[in-house]
Amino acid sequence: MVDLHTHTIFSDGTWTIEELLSNAAKNNVTTLAITDHDTSLPHIKLKDIDVKKYFSGRIVTGGEFNCVFDSVKIELLGYGFDPFKLQDWIDKTYTKNNEINGYKKEFQEFLDLCKKNNIKTTPNLQYNEVQKFPVKIIYDDITKYEENKKFFTDEEWNNSGIIFRKSTCNPNFILYRNFSKQYPSAKEVSNKIRKYGGKVFIAHLYLYPLDNYIEFLDNLRNNNIIDGVEVYYSGFSSTQIKTLENYCKQNNMFMSAGTDCHGDKKPDRKIGIGYNNMNVSEDVIKNWL
Ligand SMILES: [Zn+2]
Repeated sequence: MVDLHTHTIFSDGTWTIEELLSNAAKNNVTTLAITDHDTSLPHIKLKDIDVKKYFSGRIVTGGEFNCVFDSVKIELLGYGFDPFKLQDWIDKTYTKNNEINGYKKEFQEFLDLCKKNNIKTTPNLQYNEVQKFPVKIIYDDITKYEENKKFFTDEEWNNSGIIFRKSTCNPNFILYRNFSKQYPSAKEVSNKIRKYGGKVFIAHLYLYPLDNYIEFLDNLRNNNIIDGVEVYYSGFSSTQIKTLENYCKQNNMFMSAGTDCHGDKKPDRKIGIGYNNMNVSEDVIKNWL
């Protein structure tokens, strides 16, 4: 079976490359891609690892890249590129984001948005490195004050994940931030992945809170940004999967599949298997891999 979306300690996963490979083997994954955020270093590191000791299947070079399309922050998956060449570009492009200073800046932007919209926050609220993610600190703080509830839907109020996604994707959301200054455009990411021999897929479409998913796919396609769609993904409903399968068939797009396994951090999202039993066959990828 196929799993083309996994994370290690090279970004926000908890497993080393060796642990990821062992677990992939244990669950009978036959084609695997490591897709850490904004890096291709695990695939460079792989050259120094005795892979066969851990995993006997096929490994595809991969990465998951933050970028902005149409004011929406999305993630593009790249596969099959030259990891050394892409890493040179990554080193120049993703410098300021995952560092504490970037988070501090993001945190300040959230505070400014709260102030502008009269959302109450604790006076002198500071960024802290323990909680790390600005949106989490802000969420924990604003939900302490019942009077803030009126600014949010119940779904938003009860789920920091929804607040996070909307703050990155929905320009009409009260805490929306435009990431264009922080991340490259989807076009640039796509061009680089293709330039170094790879193909480009839109990751987990239904995680973005969009109004019209098909229109969004059409726009990505018409702008020649994607070669395919991550059709099979942990947590997608069978209706969502069907919709994406049909879309790919009708528009000659390639299909990919991934669990987004993060190791022990999200233990119910198992490598190769996802939440239930994804068990995606090699047939799905045979026309492009
Ligand atoms: Zn991911």
